[in-house]
Amino acid sequence: MISLSLAGKVALVTGATSGIGAATAGALAEQGAHVLVAGRDPERGEAVVAAIRARGGKADFVAAELGDVAAVRQLARSATELGGGRVDILVNNAGVYPFKATEEVTEEEFDAVYALNVKAKFFLVAELAPAMAERGAGSIINISTQVASYGAPGMSLYGSSKAAVNLLTRSWAAEYGPRGVRVNAVGVGPTRTEGTAPMGENLDGLAAQAPAGRPAEAEEIAAAVVYLAGDASSFVHGAVLPVDGGRTAV
Ligand code: NAP
Repeated sequence: MISLSLAGKVALVTGATSGIGAATAGALAEQGAHVLVAGRDPERGEAVVAAIRARGGKADFVAAELGDVAAVRQLARSATELGGGRVDILVNNAGVYPFKATEEVTEEEFDAVYALNVKAKFFLVAELAPAMAERGAGSIINISTQVASYGAPGMSLYGSSKAAVNLLTRSWAAEYGPRGVRVNAVGVGPTRTEGTAPMGENLDGLAAQAPAGRPAEAEEIAAAVVYLAGDASSFVHGAVLPVDGGRTAV
């Protein structure tokens, strides 16, 4: 019987102060992982940590504004130190998703989206995967989106950044998989979070296109991450698991 238990594992979750990241931090802690909650806002971060501890879990907050590679490297160092010299599970979740017509995107917006959605993920893996490979075990989960799989108006910038993440997932599976590090992604559909709250009914409209016909709750995405983090998915490498209510299936 393969269990979901993550007892004894150290998990770093970026963007864990909100939405999918916060739900994922909680779900990984429920399975016994020591969770490192990374985000910019210490107040929201400490609230996530306090909620996990109140349920008997283990968590610590790590402040990280992932604006450049130096900050990414600092996060890797702090997390490894807090984790007692190791990070076993990395959930590359922090992301931004401005929806805009291509001609309205400024150079600054383009650079900011790619800096967080692609570059920060890239260099965090570069920092943490080699140590996992040396230990012969690790799990990396990239949080992607359904709109990395099809074209949609207003989503060229965001969708292309996440399409890069999907290919990075496969590249890293090829690169680190033979040394025991599994790298997978979750292709997320419309999900109720603090970040999507301003979308109001537009989120429901987007979700209505899928068989499930409704937005996900963040906990439904977190459950998929827990599956990919642990031994239940031991033969899964380089997958982009659609958790999108069926949107990309039909
Ligand atoms: P959210 O509620 O907006 O939360 C975003 C998180 O990212 C927050 O923890 C935020 O930290 C962090 N963050 C933002 N900019 C950052 C930066 N420059 N440096 C470090 N951290 C930063 O997001 P969400 O809706 O849960 O989405 C999470 C992930 O799922 C994203 O990658 C998104 O693309 C993906 N996704 C979401 C949906 C959806 O419908 N919600 C659908 C598909 C994919 P602070 O709180 O500290 O600012």
